[in-house]
Amino acid sequence: MSTANDLPFKVLADTFEALESITSRTQMTNILVSLLKKTPPEIIDKVVYIIEERLWPDWKGLPELGVAEKSIIKAIAVATGQSDDIVEKTAKTLGDLGKAAESLISVSREKQKKAATLLSFVSTKRELTVSRVYETLARIAMAQGEGSKDIKIRLLSGLLTESSPKEARYIVRFVEGKLRLGVGEATLMDALAIAFGGGSFARPIIERAYNLRADLGEVAKVVAAKGIEELKALKPVVGIPIRPMLAERHNNPEEILEKVGGVGFVEYKYDGERAQIHKRGSEVIIYSRRLENITHQYPDVVDYARRGVRADEAIVEGEIVAVDPDTGDFKPFQELMHRKRKYDIQAVVKEIPVRVFLFDILYANGVDYTVKPLPERRRALEEIVERNEGLDIAEYITVKTPGDLEKFFMEAIGNGAEGVMVKALHKDSIYQAGTRGWLWIKYKRDYRSEMIDTVDLVVVGAFYGKGRRGGKFGALLMAAYNEEKDVFETVCKVGSGFTDEDLNKLPDILKPYIMERKPVRVVSNIEPDVWVEPKLVAELIGAELTLSPLHTCAVGKIRGDAGISIRFPRFIRWRDDKGPEDATTSSELVEMYKSQLKKIAEKPSEGEAV
Ligand code: ATP
Repeated sequence: MSTANDLPFKVLADTFEALESITSRTQMTNILVSLLKKTPPEIIDKVVYIIEERLWPDWKGLPELGVAEKSIIKAIAVATGQSDDIVEKTAKTLGDLGKAAESLISVSREKQKKAATLLSFVSTKRELTVSRVYETLARIAMAQGEGSKDIKIRLLSGLLTESSPKEARYIVRFVEGKLRLGVGEATLMDALAIAFGGGSFARPIIERAYNLRADLGEVAKVVAAKGIEELKALKPVVGIPIRPMLAERHNNPEEILEKVGGVGFVEYKYDGERAQIHKRGSEVIIYSRRLENITHQYPDVVDYARRGVRADEAIVEGEIVAVDPDTGDFKPFQELMHRKRKYDIQAVVKEIPVRVFLFDILYANGVDYTVKPLPERRRALEEIVERNEGLDIAEYITVKTPGDLEKFFMEAIGNGAEGVMVKALHKDSIYQAGTRGWLWIKYKRDYRSEMIDTVDLVVVGAFYGKGRRGGKFGALLMAAYNEEKDVFETVCKVGSGFTDEDLNKLPDILKPYIMERKPVRVVSNIEPDVWVEPKLVAELIGAELTLSPLHTCAVGKIRGDAGISIRFPRFIRWRDDKGPEDATTSSELVEMYKSQLKKIAEKPSEGEAV
């Protein structure tokens, strides 16, 4: 590829360096806008993927880079003519392998220069381009099976031989999975809107396109090459997952009905795994809530959908629920975890059969249903789906009174559901892909504690333990996601609820994400012993929500100088199925806090939490 439609990789390396020293999101956006504007449309997808610290969207199911630390060390050693030992020692001294590569390449370049002067020849090093780097990285990822380790080392060392010291720093960090630019997808979308849509007002168009394509690289390419109008015309495509619509939570039937406009379309909230089922002819693909391709885990669902979804092309959505083969009763969603084991899926299919309860339709035979109101979508779903032994449509009623809502809620729980989903059915009740909003409200049972519900928070820091936990991590600093600002705000420090086994595993779980300094998108008044890149999500419960001046979650929303916190938080489990942006949001915590206040209006609690 000529450099006319390519970009020197140096530009990217310089940008990454600039991003390392900034402190605000606005600066980050400005830097990204300037990079995107400089980037030719032909390769802008690659630039976006690299910034997102990936090679392609996860849902494509393509392999990850898969280069072990030892192999990276070897590649640096080969490229610089040093021993593995020296590379390792340099990394220890400088803090990371990226810097080690940078420093050692710089030394070897100096030597080459001297030799060139001595022997008076002119070195003709070609400039490294984004395409060259990306394509080599893609080849590294694609190298699989026997002998792939050596191929990966060879390709990487070749690439490092061609790179400048600074380029090497970022290539190595990328391969290690430690680029850690801290750029969230919201920031990237803002930057795309400003660079190609004329300003931040174009952000909703970019966002909708992203919600329909789940591929920011592709969206960037379309908008950079063809303009913002082209994005407006995008429709769902069978085979490309759509980012799921999400629900707000609430626990007061009267207010729930108010929020959906007086009348609610109420369904069981099944406790299983969300499935987005794509069908074209007899081909069926199933995507998870996180848009991973999980088709192989559910050969039975593939068969049910193939028979029951009667449209040449369709995208429908539902919950896969484990059922007791003897009684047909629902089983807890944990049972579905057995399906994640790749081997002997047929045995698991027999042992833990499932049923699918469809609750939405997003596309069928050329019609984009995401823009249609719920009643119309439901009619289409009923028309297209023929129920069979494994395929059903979610049970629902329409309610106008809190009493009826409560009655259906009790019935749902009695039948093994987690609660109910209350959905708006007015004319604007479209399918808001990728958005958590009040068009869907989850109303879940709570028997565990005073807190209405568990929360899913992101680990942003860790503290060393004391006493029995000496030498290990003893607690984690947890944060909620503020979606307006695209930052993570701290909520609590959690040290309870961990088993010894959980604690023993913590160092390994945290290791890949430990950072030297506070991640840019983390807002914290507390300095943990180590900072952790916001990636890991854990489910917590506590005695109650409270206000604390130590925490930054939704500061100013309830009281000027205090954030929302959790009293006596307890770890329940890791939520590997959620990404950091899927965590409980700061505004959800505000809502939870407000409804808790109402519940205990007589004796409001404002204890301080740490
Ligand atoms: P949770 O952790 O409570 O499962 P979530 O963050 O995964 O929630 P939400 O949008 O908050 O997702 O809650 C809706 C989830 O409930 C969906 O993702 C889906 O998996 C599940 N669900 C079960 N029954 C329904 C239904 N009838 N309609 C919509 N979603 C349903």
